[in-house]
Amino acid sequence: MNFLSHIEAKRDGKALTSGQIKEIVSAYTAGKIPDYQMAAFLMAVYFRGLNTAETSALTLAMRDSGDVLTFPKDPRPLVDKHSTGGVGDKVSLPLAPLLACLGFRVPMISGRGLGITGGTLDKLDSIPGFQTTLPTDRIIEIVQTVGCVICGQTERMVPADKGLYALRDVTGTVPSIPLIVASILSKKLAEGLAALVLDVKFGAAAFMPTRAKALELAKAMVALGNDCGVSTRALLTRMDAPLGRAAGNWLEVKESVACLENERNPPDLRELVLGCAAQLLVQTGKAKAIKAARQKAEACLSSGQPRRKWDEMLAAQGADLAAFNQKLALDHTAPAVVELKAPRAGFVSRCDARIIGEVIRDLGGGRLAKDSVINYDVGVDRLAKPGERVTANSVLARIHASSAAQAESACARILTAFKVVGRAPADASLVEDIITAIKPSSLHRKARTSRFG
Ligand code: URA
Repeated sequence: MNFLSHIEAKRDGKALTSGQIKEIVSAYTAGKIPDYQMAAFLMAVYFRGLNTAETSALTLAMRDSGDVLTFPKDPRPLVDKHSTGGVGDKVSLPLAPLLACLGFRVPMISGRGLGITGGTLDKLDSIPGFQTTLPTDRIIEIVQTVGCVICGQTERMVPADKGLYALRDVTGTVPSIPLIVASILSKKLAEGLAALVLDVKFGAAAFMPTRAKALELAKAMVALGNDCGVSTRALLTRMDAPLGRAAGNWLEVKESVACLENERNPPDLRELVLGCAAQLLVQTGKAKAIKAARQKAEACLSSGQPRRKWDEMLAAQGADLAAFNQKLALDHTAPAVVELKAPRAGFVSRCDARIIGEVIRDLGGGRLAKDSVINYDVGVDRLAKPGERVTANSVLARIHASSAAQAESACARILTAFKVVGRAPADASLVEDIITAIKPSSLHRKARTSRFG
């Protein structure tokens, strides 16, 4: 293969064939393309974009660069959810056992957080004994017996994405819609799914800052997922305020367990968990319409069965349930906790997820570098959310930190995330849009080229 000619073709805005893209991915995975040439290619893609056929070829070639999970024949459909990430986004934790109880198999291959967005695996690492690294045969065994597993990608799954993502990260080419689509969907397609629901977030703390960009990404993923034979839908959701009332690894596990115990507060977490489950029920024909699907999901959550399924999943993944329950019973696990009080009476009109995410990261709850050591106990809880009425001195947030000094300094920063006003702000819906299907053929016809993120 003459890779230089492929770089030049893309630089000049020409389309590559599926065969050429396949060749590029397999040569790169085999270590036959140096990073400096691949970096040039990625930059050409960033500026010139990929058309739908090229994006599809790239996604499939990346999926096939390693192992694809294959499960025994079973009437329970294989499903999963992917979120583009946010602050306090813990939906995966209650959703996986709920879906297992609704008659699905859930091979939830998840990631770690980077920067201010939390990662599902980091949250789970705060559970005593819980194993997030599992071999392929154990992943399959747990899915078949328990119904759900939440773990990391094995070394042999989608190796092309590992290399390409790391290179994009250091070459300014992450925000390219076709590259994001290929990266996310190659990993999801390697799970062998029947249906996938995507939570594409936009707003202050989201990967996609604007609704328009999130919509573009969601449409591209929905079209390609369906084109590849996986029923794919996307929810477009706001990420201006943290999801729920807690952010920080262990505090989010606690809030997830409360959701599984049918605690209706926080309502936004419950709404998103039930919303994702309802879409998957309809996508797989287990319910005819969203309203009925939601009722089915709600009844299942209320039954207490998903809470027991959570324990089953934890035990299968090596957790020490007695230690976990002891930890759950504690009010807090961080050495210092301080309350942030409202400066005046009124209504919360802003609770900025970006500021809160940055503070938690700086307290040690997230990573500033790939090898940063995480402090699982730090974070915030009891967050007052936009639209809520507060009195002077009522609690806006509780800050959990390693020391009193760190807690006080975090408290001062978190105060700047809040705005309390005299009048109730207009309600903003959490789920802004639902993308159910995009005709891929219409995208092909227009030879649509997607460029910037
Ligand atoms: N998440 C991914 O897995 N890949 C991207 O490119 C962006 C977000």
